[in-house]
Amino acid sequence: MQHFFAVGRLSTYNIEFKGLGEGQHEFDYQIGRPFFELFENSLLDDGDVMVKIVLDKHSAFLELHLSLGGTVILTCDRCLEPFSQKIKGKASLYVKFGDTESEEGEDVIWLHPEDHQLNVAQLIYEYITVSIPLRHVHPVRKDGKEGCDPEMIKKLEEYSRHDSENTDERWSELKKLLNNN
Ligand SMILES: [Zn+2]
Repeated sequence: MQHFFAVGRLSTYNIEFKGLGEGQHEFDYQIGRPFFELFENSLLDDGDVMVKIVLDKHSAFLELHLSLGGTVILTCDRCLEPFSQKIKGKASLYVKFGDTESEEGEDVIWLHPEDHQLNVAQLIYEYITVSIPLRHVHPVRKDGKEGCDPEMIKKLEEYSRHDSENTDERWSELKKLLNNN
């Protein structure tokens, strides 16, 4: 994992850990559209996610316990309409200090010994994106009906039927040519 940089509005997500006493400190973040706008080429642009970070400060290192829950707006792979996807997740990682990264591992963030703050924006973004299911499809409604927009599904089916008809025509043309030889 790379070091974090505080730029402009990202500074809202700076945790000044130097001045904190040893022990646990809680930081809460409400993540929505303004947050996703901070990221170029963001995979998400809207949602409502609560993120809690418990920072456990030890004399030589920090522990971060992150938990998140809420909804993000995704585009349905099936009907191409937006829908609200529930997400939740938990993760723990360490923040260690050194001039070089002397230990490998995805759950360790390395900071320079002089650093006094940690920007958690990238971290929050990454954990939100990994908590999203791979399949982006409208959830089934409470009444058991499918969640997709039936009008859009109908249109898309018409398009794909049209495509396969065209393919069939090309095939039969080809077959005719082959049979004549
Ligand atoms: Zn859908």
